[in-house]
Amino acid sequence: MDDEDSFISFNLICPECGVGNPEGAEYCLVCDRDLQETILFMEDDPFDLEVTRDFLIEYRKNFWGTRRTGKIEKYSWDKMEDVHFGFPVNRFIFNYQDRRVVLPLREENMQMMKRLFKE
Ligand SMILES: [Zn+2]
Repeated sequence: MDDEDSFISFNLICPECGVGNPEGAEYCLVCDRDLQETILFMEDDPFDLEVTRDFLIEYRKNFWGTRRTGKIEKYSWDKMEDVHFGFPVNRFIFNYQDRRVVLPLREENMQMMKRLFKE
């Protein structure tokens, strides 16, 4: 159905500098950041999201989505409750320390998150 598998994928985006690295790379080609802990990295409009084994990390961006503000939210997967996906609007929703967190996601990022949860 899709040709995705025939691409050489540089899907492992470095959370530090944003450069795409080949899957399985241990360190970023450009800035040398350790990529081992990063399972998934997604660029979205209001934030970048990094998924590690223990945390979901949100790097907030400015209003225009052009750069990061330096504000970082770190959510432990263990402490998330009532995790679900919004429908029909693409959103990742969960409760965290008595607070409701709603992360609007682009379609492609929504698909990646869903795939992650199926594994
Ligand atoms: Zn890098």
